[in-house]
Amino acid sequence: MGKVYLTGAGPGDLELLTIKALRIIREADVIIYDRLANPDILKEAKAGCEFVYVGKADSRHTLPQEEINEVIYQNALKHDIVVRLKGGDPFVFGRGGEEGIYLKERGIEFELIPGITSAIAVPEYAGIPVTHRGVTVSFRVVTGHEAPNKEKSQIPWQNFKSDDTIVFLMGLHNLDKIASKLIEIGKPADYPVAVISKGTTKEEKTVVGTLSDIYEKAKDLPTPALIVVGNVVKLRDQLNWFERS
Ligand code: SAH
Repeated sequence: MGKVYLTGAGPGDLELLTIKALRIIREADVIIYDRLANPDILKEAKAGCEFVYVGKADSRHTLPQEEINEVIYQNALKHDIVVRLKGGDPFVFGRGGEEGIYLKERGIEFELIPGITSAIAVPEYAGIPVTHRGVTVSFRVVTGHEAPNKEKSQIPWQNFKSDDTIVFLMGLHNLDKIASKLIEIGKPADYPVAVISKGTTKEEKTVVGTLSDIYEKAKDLPTPALIVVGNVVKLRDQLNWFERS
């Protein structure tokens, strides 16, 4: 039986891969991956390494998680070094926990290799610090996948009244609903928002606006994209360093 490395691939820029992830990718007998911000990572694999793609090409959805778990498990029965490669960090909306539990229940050894999460690094490349002295003392990372008007929302919208920075992942297709919901709970219509598309890559594009106009400005940006809400967005005026407009 092999060992599975639940590995973070970082947010896009190849150099944001950790040295540990790179080492294990080079040693892997099989790499199981879905849509990655930087597929060039796979070129680092050794000759003869197998690649198993578990994403669907034309949507943000991947295979059902149960099937992915089983693919990883079956590969661990056949190979020594199995790398399960995921964008960003495996434990930040990466379902790495579910995969680890599935393997544990079947007696398969695993290791976690953290990755640089897009939730922090992508705003950073856009010149937006998720915390900043005197502006905000905390930040939260929230799924934007759940429509805010869903009847029984799991998201505690009422908690978002504070001035925490809020980073929404997987939220571009709900941008209009997220913005309206935040206005509904009492945030000013001119509260700052940024949407960052393809962050940390050469195609990175940041659009800055307010809760009332961000949807019109940013709705057509390509994915992957994330949404940053908070006064820290204003710091981009001074801290933008990566994108040339
Ligand atoms: N585990 C990942 C997040 C998985 S959820 C991590 O830690 O980064 C996938 C979401 O992450 C996307 O819908 C998008 O909101 C965000 N994302 C990932 N890479 C991104 C990138 N390069 N630019 C902008 N957003 C990105």
